[in-house]
Amino acid sequence: MLEFQYYMPTKVLLGENVVINNSELFSKLGAKAFIITGKSSSKKNGSLEDVIKALNKYNISYCIFDEVEENPSLETVEKASAMGRIEGVDFIIGIGGGSPIDSSKAIGVLVKNKDCNVEDLFSKTKLSSLPIVALPTTAGTGTEVTHYAIFTDHKLKTKRNFGQQVFPEIALLDAKYLNSTSDNVTINTAIDALSHLIEGYLSAKANILGDTFSEKGLQLFSECLDALRDRNFSSEVREKLLLASTLGGVVIAQAGTSLPHGMGYPLTYFNGIPHGRANGLILKAYLELCSKMDKLVKILSILKFKDINEFGNYIEGLIGKETSVSEEQIIDYSKAMISNKDKLKNHSFDVTEEDIFNMYKKSLLNNK
Ligand code: NAP
Ligand code: ZN
Repeated sequence: MLEFQYYMPTKVLLGENVVINNSELFSKLGAKAFIITGKSSSKKNGSLEDVIKALNKYNISYCIFDEVEENPSLETVEKASAMGRIEGVDFIIGIGGGSPIDSSKAIGVLVKNKDCNVEDLFSKTKLSSLPIVALPTTAGTGTEVTHYAIFTDHKLKTKRNFGQQVFPEIALLDAKYLNSTSDNVTINTAIDALSHLIEGYLSAKANILGDTFSEKGLQLFSECLDALRDRNFSSEVREKLLLASTLGGVVIAQAGTSLPHGMGYPLTYFNGIPHGRANGLILKAYLELCSKMDKLVKILSILKFKDINEFGNYIEGLIGKETSVSEEQIIDYSKAMISNKDKLKNHSFDVTEEDIFNMYKKSLLNNK
């Protein structure tokens, strides 16, 4: 008998000029907005300008925090939250890649709960947030439809998800904002979306609804394989990648991520490898580990790869090899992964520290 739960409360709107065409949505969220962005991209790709136009149309005042760095730190969240509390904002608009949108979720919680600090984001549960509007300008994380927010914790020397359940209230998707992403950001973020679709599909928590979205997302991704290889991104391809990314978010919001994400976090923290590329480096070894799962055949068939080797060669063609990671490091990273219960519980069968070490070794050492 089937048994599952499915919860995805975000209102999703996709289309050209979606912000301007739906600006009345902002007027229902309050009188003052807090716009959270990265350092510069939102000023160049038109997303910030469109949001300000939409707010002005309804005389909604706003303030801007534009200092979110890649893989955002808790210190940045603290700084922005202090500003939001002083300004008395009613709702948050996160514009950018996963870093500013994830930050928006934590800032929304801290501005709403004035007695809480960043540690409470991890130790307390079910803290509510101000309403969040998410405007993704990369096609990768799917954070616009998840309740996750990942931060760099410099005290613990790792990246970790906060303990709250903050889904954005509204996600506004317009692929035109993605035109300015560099080839590298486009490829790395696309591989993040692919990892979500694959890890969610193979997860112990996968269910029939999520699987339907995974298969559609993989199909869309397969239609972009040539464009990614040739680094030739039309508007149509960008929109497909954006949709695949949002579908990946819908999938992991239910099924979670597992080994590639857990193994990728130290590669980002200690070796500075971008999040999507870090997952991508592990993906072939992950598929090999899962090669006995029936769903693996389905993944390869939707993506139109004849076997795992062809898949691996394709990914390597996109992101290259990585040679900066030492054997000593992967011994440490394997130990950390085998105690990461949150990620392991999403994986469909038991793995040992040796399995993890071998995956790292195949992915990062054998090619030196
Ligand atoms: P990001 O860290 O948000 O941004 C990467 C770079 O891309 C930044 O330099 C940013 O510039 C630039 N950029 C963003 N949009 C652009 C555009 N339209 N044109 C040109 N440049 C643009 O990258 P991301 O991969 O989207 O997000 C990664 C973060 O999300 C990681 O911390 C990861 O752990 C997290 N994540 C979260 C979830 C979730 O469900 N919550 C899932 C997966 C990953 P600016 O700084 O100038 O904006
Ligand atoms: Zn990810």
